[in-house]
Amino acid sequence: MAIYYLSLKTKPGKNTHEVHKSNCPHLPEAKNRKHLGNFISCKAAVREAKNFVEKPNGCCYCSRLCNSAC
Ligand SMILES: [Zn+2]
Repeated sequence: MAIYYLSLKTKPGKNTHEVHKSNCPHLPEAKNRKHLGNFISCKAAVREAKNFVEKPNGCCYCSRLCNSAC
């Protein structure tokens, strides 16, 4: 299990919001992220993130399995 966060900012030039693990070096600062909870995989975290943003996507660094574009 890992704690996951949703970035509230989109990446420049993209309309996707990245999902990060709590220990990711690319985790956004506190005001730009939302705590999603404890999940068994990034897939479950991304599913949860869909309740908040239209296009969540796994971070290429910490949740690569959940980003088909990495
Ligand atoms: Zn990350």
